[in-house]
Amino acid sequence: MSEPPEPVPGQPRARGRGRAAERAAGPRATRVGATPAERRRAARRPREPLFRLPEVDEVRRLRRAQAGERLRRQARRAMIGDGLAIGIDIGGTKVAAGVVDAGGRVVARARRDTPTRSPQAVEDLIADLVEELSAQAEVVSVGIGAAGFVDATRSTVLFSPHLAWRDEPLREAVELRVRERLGRRVGRRTLVENDANAAAWAEYRFGAGRGEPRLVCITLGTGIGGAVVQAGRLQRGRYGIAGEFGHMVLVPGGHRCECGNRGCWEQYASGNSLGRDGRELARGGSPFAHTLLAGAGGDPEAVRGQVVTQAARAGDPAAVEIVEDTGRWLGTGLANLAAALDPGTFVIGGGVSDAGDLLLGPAREEFRRTLTGRGYRPEARVVRAELGPDAGLVGAADLSRGWG
Ligand SMILES: [Zn+2]
Repeated sequence: MSEPPEPVPGQPRARGRGRAAERAAGPRATRVGATPAERRRAARRPREPLFRLPEVDEVRRLRRAQAGERLRRQARRAMIGDGLAIGIDIGGTKVAAGVVDAGGRVVARARRDTPTRSPQAVEDLIADLVEELSAQAEVVSVGIGAAGFVDATRSTVLFSPHLAWRDEPLREAVELRVRERLGRRVGRRTLVENDANAAAWAEYRFGAGRGEPRLVCITLGTGIGGAVVQAGRLQRGRYGIAGEFGHMVLVPGGHRCECGNRGCWEQYASGNSLGRDGRELARGGSPFAHTLLAGAGGDPEAVRGQVVTQAARAGDPAAVEIVEDTGRWLGTGLANLAAALDPGTFVIGGGVSDAGDLLLGPAREEFRRTLTGRGYRPEARVVRAELGPDAGLVGAADLSRGWG
């Protein structure tokens, strides 16, 4: 008889002290006929869980770590406050930097070409930019956004496809260089973040994703970057590298991807795929490729994604067709993501989103056509990002203040 007595329908439960004691003692102590002394002894006995999963210890450890991280973040935010922060966005060809205020406005800027593929040269350049910008304003922190896998401590780039970084302790390297030059540190904290995460955070805080509790942001550049923001936190995954949606396989056996697989999403819906389709058309000598060829100086091999986007915006039918195809592939991928993540809003940013509704129109159509349970479920909005090329640096700066 270890079950608590069932309440008799129509009769009130025991009231007052008796019920409170029952609750405190737990079900094992409520044996019918137990003396008060027995009840007191049972209440003192530690309660054993009914069952215990082997993973429980690991989950508890993670929860404790998360609670610790939450406290540290609150402390950092209190310490750093809402002052000006430096944001640096390292792209494959350009490095954009700025001083960003607490409202997401860029109050000072600097821009350079990405020097070489050498990690040290890029680190020197980052230190140059921190030196230059910190001379113009008193800053509280520095945030650096870079393409690639960033570890869970936000300090080391584990792998960067464009910059030849492999296990590069970027935060330490930049802080060291800055201290050597200025004889002091700049701000109270330096943070490294994946560039797509940084852009998503900026859109969530200051752009098209404001007020959306569950947001997926897709950045269409040379490849596809992705990030999820939920209830005010970036979802970084167990090891810090969640959101690599560009490498979901949509076409088994399709185009070869830089990652080694075939048929990845970014082979069909990115700047690279726009350029590839444009070049294919131009090489074939199609009369429809006239505008594309003109945009690339007459050289079919010089047709890039941007050339296709510009020609499409100018109304060139061949370029419009390529952008629409790309939009449909975008919509298919979004439907897959909606099945997995069920966000309220998809924000689409990056250079390819400059094509606007030429791209997003077919993307929305295909999204609706492919969505699981279509017609029987609320649909996520698909909107264009608002912050343009500033998103990466604004987001990196804001995250460095202890948010996200
Ligand atoms: Zn891939």
